[in-house]
Amino acid sequence: MGRREEPVVFSRSEGVFVINLQDLDEDQRIAATAPRGPVCILAGAGTGKTRTITYRIAHLIDQGFVSPNRVLAVTFTSRAAGEMRHRLSLMGIGGVQARTFHAAARKQLMYFWPQVAGDLRWKLLDNKFPLVGRAVRGARLESSTEKVRDILGEIEWAKASLIAPEQYPEKLGTRTPPVPAEKVADVYARYEQMKTTGEGLLLDFDDLLLHTAGALENSPAVAEEFREQYRSFVVDEYQDVTPLQQRVLEAWLGERDDLTVVGDANQTIYSFTGATPHYLLNFSRTYENATVVKLQRDYRSTPQVTDLANTVIAQARGRVAGTRLELQGMRAPGPEPEFTSYDDEPTEAREVAGKILTLLDQGVAASEIAVLYRINAQSAVFEQALSDAGIVYQVRGGEGFFTRAEIRQALSQLVRAAQRDVDETDLVRLVRRTLVPLGLSTQEPEGAQERERWQSLNALVDLVEELVTATPDLDFQGLLRKLHERQEAKHPPTVEGVTLASLHAAKGLEWDAVFLVGLVDSTLPISHAIKAGDEAIEEERRLFYVGVTRAREHLFCSWALSRQEGGRKTRKRTRFLDGIVIDPAPESGTPRGNRPRNCRVCGNPLDTPAERVVGRCNACPPQADEGVFERLRTWRNTTAQKENVPAYIVFSNATLMAVAELMPTSDNELLNVPGIGPMKAEKYGDEILEILRG
Ligand code: ATP
Ligand code: MG
Repeated sequence: MGRREEPVVFSRSEGVFVINLQDLDEDQRIAATAPRGPVCILAGAGTGKTRTITYRIAHLIDQGFVSPNRVLAVTFTSRAAGEMRHRLSLMGIGGVQARTFHAAARKQLMYFWPQVAGDLRWKLLDNKFPLVGRAVRGARLESSTEKVRDILGEIEWAKASLIAPEQYPEKLGTRTPPVPAEKVADVYARYEQMKTTGEGLLLDFDDLLLHTAGALENSPAVAEEFREQYRSFVVDEYQDVTPLQQRVLEAWLGERDDLTVVGDANQTIYSFTGATPHYLLNFSRTYENATVVKLQRDYRSTPQVTDLANTVIAQARGRVAGTRLELQGMRAPGPEPEFTSYDDEPTEAREVAGKILTLLDQGVAASEIAVLYRINAQSAVFEQALSDAGIVYQVRGGEGFFTRAEIRQALSQLVRAAQRDVDETDLVRLVRRTLVPLGLSTQEPEGAQERERWQSLNALVDLVEELVTATPDLDFQGLLRKLHERQEAKHPPTVEGVTLASLHAAKGLEWDAVFLVGLVDSTLPISHAIKAGDEAIEEERRLFYVGVTRAREHLFCSWALSRQEGGRKTRKRTRFLDGIVIDPAPESGTPRGNRPRNCRVCGNPLDTPAERVVGRCNACPPQADEGVFERLRTWRNTTAQKENVPAYIVFSNATLMAVAELMPTSDNELLNVPGIGPMKAEKYGDEILEILRG
């Protein structure tokens, strides 16, 4: 993300701060200058929430309501806290505490501990994993890294939701635990027990919050001293607060109400960790005298981007959806968002890399471009394509694909297999077989971590398939060399590159150009959300909304109908684009005139460019002779190799399928095949007709 400095709010003139309220619009100004007391800013994406809270803090200080060191501002990440401190310091304001809930609680607990616990020593347990691992083994459960992490995730959710071990099974709701609920409860209880049995107490991050709330709730002396110190509270991203964090906030406040909260319920995307927009939505009920301000002007994005965002969120259902605000794009008009359907993932990745090169040529900075996806394993194919195109990138909020633990393990297993299984000629099968012991089951496992590992291993198999298709005579050593090269291709971290990130990690950030990729059903919404039902699907829709609203100007949405080149096009574009994408852009370079609008088998309308090229909808079975299609594909791949161009430049798989289904016998009939224009007919016509005659 490019750093754009916020304007300086204060200018110091002879020691007096002057607030420059011109930097705010009218609604922002109302929020910033509201009298001391409860304020709730319900603001959509890009409406300037951080700017507004910063001014509010400034205003409260400027009006003499509070001194800087009596303000506590809470942010979602420590990075955001750092940014807020930075902005405040630019205004000449020091001493305001801007921290995450955890960091604030830790500092307070260190201070108050002797008063509430005397000599009892405590230590922060910053890595829960080993202890939870022991608890898992104690409960006689399988203790693979992923299993332990998944159970750990459940414990964290329970603690954030103020649920004790014995309550876990009944409070589970729609969550699917990685092991039976009673077992999770057992591990949770053991873990809590283990932290108290060594010398001194071990406290994990959630305990810091619990004990802070406890100290304030139970010790009047502590509460009095604390409340003397802190008078004003500000909370950003309040839609993603957990019950545990809320309890801390209430303990901080006591009977007071000097609280400003900022949030957008339609950007709630962390429910799986226990976060809930409930407190934001009930704020005016909790504080009847609250000033409630809605901000709708979006200063981040063009009207084209905000139009799409509004349409996406207009389809949301449920209570949260009822609170949506219509964004009004304040920037000058820009390009329309693009929607593109690709035949397969490698093609999607290559085309995205191509579009990025075009943007770079147009002068867009690499650091102002992001590729966003739903799950981390999706980065693999894009990392590959960006590397191939010579584009420097950084993977945010996760490691690069080739540095992930399971991929490193997989590669070293493959090296061993290469020495052992010298006779196997089917590389893809061999790779699959080698990865089974590492977790490549046929069925997608439950549990976020296990799932992530499984997804990575599958992505690796896909890459291998892609490499083998591109170079049919590749041998095992050659394949390992190619994979090894990718693993070694480290990019210097200081170089500003294109950002690859998951939608979750993109929260709160913005770029000039955003690519939302892999937009197929089962990935967005993700399959386990579809299984879990409406609420989970709504959260996925919000995630898509968060993605759309990250773009300032250029927005590209894309999806691929099959994983592999030449694979069966079984995928469907994300349901979140239903009714939005009506007439996708035609594939470049091919005439549109001869494209059928309806399926030649069932007569239903065709809605993707690829379906229109084939002339048949995805739901109807292929009409072609498989042998003919295969021969055409082999010819196409060899031709592409000879001409040193990607295969789809010669003919897309959709066009080849159309040829195989229509079986033209003359030049004229060939020209009637959608996707074949005079140039291609002239260049390749004879060869194709020859193959069909054979
Ligand atoms: P999100 O919901 O995505 O977290 P946000 O509401 O926190 O968004 P900001 O990131 O604070 O929004 O602001 C979005 C962009 O709009 C920033 O680049 C900010 O500098 C700019 N901005 C905010 N208010 C104004 C204003 N009144 N005039 C001009 N630009 C503004
Ligand atoms: Mg923000």
